[in-house]
Amino acid sequence: TLNNHPSGRHFLQIPGPTNVPDRVLRAIDQPTIDHRGPVFGALGLAVLEGVREVFQTRGPVVIFPSSGTGAWEAALVNTLSPGDRVLMVETGHFASLWRKLAGRLGLEVDFLEGDWRHPVDAAAIGARLADDAERRIKAVCVVHNETSTGVTSDVTAVRRAIDGAGHPALLMVDTISSLGSVDYRHDEWGVDVTVAGSQKGLMLPPGLAFNAVSEKALAAADTARLPRSYWDWREMLTANERGYFPYTPSTNLLYGLHEALAMLREEGLPQVFARHLRHARATRLAVAAWGLELLSLDPAAHSPALTAVVMPAGHGADAFRKTVLERFDMSLGQGLGKLADRVFRIGHLGHFNDLTLCGTLAGVEMGLAAAGVPHRPGGVRAAMDFLEG
Ligand code: PLP
Repeated sequence: TLNNHPSGRHFLQIPGPTNVPDRVLRAIDQPTIDHRGPVFGALGLAVLEGVREVFQTRGPVVIFPSSGTGAWEAALVNTLSPGDRVLMVETGHFASLWRKLAGRLGLEVDFLEGDWRHPVDAAAIGARLADDAERRIKAVCVVHNETSTGVTSDVTAVRRAIDGAGHPALLMVDTISSLGSVDYRHDEWGVDVTVAGSQKGLMLPPGLAFNAVSEKALAAADTARLPRSYWDWREMLTANERGYFPYTPSTNLLYGLHEALAMLREEGLPQVFARHLRHARATRLAVAAWGLELLSLDPAAHSPALTAVVMPAGHGADAFRKTVLERFDMSLGQGLGKLADRVFRIGHLGHFNDLTLCGTLAGVEMGLAAAGVPHRPGGVRAAMDFLEG
């Protein structure tokens, strides 16, 4: 019989928003306080300081009440001027959306095309920058972890390519689905603006967006001429000095951020990153045992945060996902853009452990059988053998 009345916990295994830990939910569940009062100032200072650890930066991190898209826009409008050229790379759906946003702002986008199955080609970036003798390109923008494909790019290689060309362009990186899950170092890797959101590795509900900002990016903000008001870093940074914001912040999400930062600190970032790598590896072993195909083609670039699986020819991913939701009360990620109905995505990031993974993979394996999708059984067993080892 169909499980029409689900009991127990819903499995939210999309690659974000992710499952919010009970500790974080309880932290959010407090009376909303005066955001100009003394208690708030202490909370503001604590989260503005604490969040730097996750970005691995000593510089400022701006926090907006916004989805991640706002942080994309903020990165561009604070640093660039109408008609400026930016170099972007087509890693997948999210890189394509960032490109569309840049175009709407009046920027000229050089888009390095890709097949949505590979990471950023740093050599191609280097070549394009070397050709730019007049230094018209003002920024290079890449997505660290492409959530639509499950492919992670090497940001250090991009930095080396920019330096190798001796080019002054700013480096902007979208870490919306990697921050807090995949090793990322804003300062050490020489990134100028890091874009992030609350609803993935930070284990919070959607609603906070972040820009980590280098000194070079701050200097660019002094001369940038794109219109900006809500997104302006400068008023933010002035108010942030005492823990406040220039407009009403997301008070209760900031309580949650304070708790999520404590959880990441208790586990330790190296352990958090190792945990994600391990669960991603176990997931790929399950996919291989099922005899299904990974969307990601470069083994060095498989994402630690999610895995995108290609459906066998003649079988739609959306019908399969519908079966999994109806029978097992689990949400899997849909195929986005040109991957619609062709792939499903397993999120294994955030608040997640060995048994969450086993439950997730069991739901996929039972769903494949229930939906009549050709596969071999034994994926869960393959993952368990690896986890036991
Ligand atoms: N960039 C990446 C890599 C994402 O995964 C997402 C959302 O999933 C976004 C940008 C857009 O963020 P939001 O939907 O929070 O506006």
